[in-house]
Amino acid sequence: MPTAAISPQMATGLRRAGAILLISCYELGHQPLSLASPLAVLRRADFAPVVVDTSVGALEDDAIRAARLVAISVPMHTALRLGARIAERVRAVNAAAHICFYGLYASLNGDYLLRERADSVIGGEYEEALLGLARALDVGDAGDTLDVPGVRTRAHDAAPVLAKLPFARPARDTLAEPRHYAHLVRGGEVVPAGYTEATRGCLHTCRHCPITPVYGGRFFVVPRAVVLDDIRQQVQAGVRHITFGDPDFFNGPGHSLAIARALHAEFPDVTFDATIKVEHILERREHFRELAVLGCAFIVSAVESLSEEVLRHLKKDHTRADVAEALAVLRAAGIPMRPTFVAFTPWTSAEDYVDVLAFAAEQGIIDNIDPIQYAIRLLVPPGSALLDEPDAREWLGPLDESAFTYRWTHPDARMDRLHGEVAKLVEAMASGGCDNREIYDEIRALAERVLGLRVAARAGTVAAGQPVPHLSEPWFC
Ligand code: SF4
Repeated sequence: MPTAAISPQMATGLRRAGAILLISCYELGHQPLSLASPLAVLRRADFAPVVVDTSVGALEDDAIRAARLVAISVPMHTALRLGARIAERVRAVNAAAHICFYGLYASLNGDYLLRERADSVIGGEYEEALLGLARALDVGDAGDTLDVPGVRTRAHDAAPVLAKLPFARPARDTLAEPRHYAHLVRGGEVVPAGYTEATRGCLHTCRHCPITPVYGGRFFVVPRAVVLDDIRQQVQAGVRHITFGDPDFFNGPGHSLAIARALHAEFPDVTFDATIKVEHILERREHFRELAVLGCAFIVSAVESLSEEVLRHLKKDHTRADVAEALAVLRAAGIPMRPTFVAFTPWTSAEDYVDVLAFAAEQGIIDNIDPIQYAIRLLVPPGSALLDEPDAREWLGPLDESAFTYRWTHPDARMDRLHGEVAKLVEAMASGGCDNREIYDEIRALAERVLGLRVAARAGTVAAGQPVPHLSEPWFC
């Protein structure tokens, strides 16, 4: 692989407009905070990066040629798969550019990226490390001399930075307008949705979660003024709904509630959604009526499974009964839950799969579940806490570095076949405009056929509610 050998002469001039190119490939249909936040921090230090979000715009060769530092944001698996291809193109167009991957999946896949695609990787709280990298390249450091805290290179190992950063208000002025991104769909109304984060990292250490190996149970709050300022600028740009993308909005409930209250006080017509785990819904149940009054349109909750065995492996700290109770808490508050699942794991039995389908019907939440959730298969990235499981050898296959995951095969061949068929079915029906219920019915029939089991749902145990608000981009990492 060619390396980016930057001579001191080439490395100077990092402050020229376009000398730093920040690229995002996919952020669940949101205007990328992972561009807006480092852009603000770099500008504050007199750098003038150009930002490109390839999910809504073209990456021109001229922009690549003009760049000395190309930094690619990879907060999730899909972004990394796309970003790896972009890095290949950058290398072909501009062999001298320093390529850096930053974000959660950069540090997890650092070995492979540094060997095949990148000159540096940055994980954890990345803004200051990225700034340090820009400063170092600006004064001519490169190759072996490049030694910046939080920046891992082939010559220097460096742990991700885990510390509260001096945040700046994200700079969104050169990003595509909110109308190009995900919208909130509520009944007949469709409004532009914005995105921000009140906290980063997570207090919990679920074993399948990519945050766990990077943050190890730590989280950081973003100052209230910075979050509210970011919301304000997005509302001024036309946004009428905010997604709080915190891994868990109730890791710091006092902080999050204060922000929700201030949001509602200033913009009473702007709604929001947030992700809150089942355990927190139960522990902090007294807050949900207030959240509804403040404009909470829905709560995403990582249910992942209803099986005791699977939940134990994932260390989710909730049970099937807890999920039913959390649904009841939210229902009583008038907030719909949009659950997410890891539908296929090595421990998910055929009976577990049909149980989720039955549960969805019984709880009246078929409309709440994006059909892609019935097709999600466990990803095991390098560094995953699942690798420390005592029985890992029994189910774990080899690491497929270029796919950024370990391989695994289900002990019941019917489950792997079902996964392939459900994934194809969901893709075809969703792109054909079918609704959740139509897709659910087909998945149910397919599962019964492939698994030879009946979905024994006591249909409509809980009546379905009103149409469920959702974002126009299904949740898929
Ligand atoms: S799955 Fe959710 S609660 Fe668990 S570690 Fe990840 S972000 Fe935190």
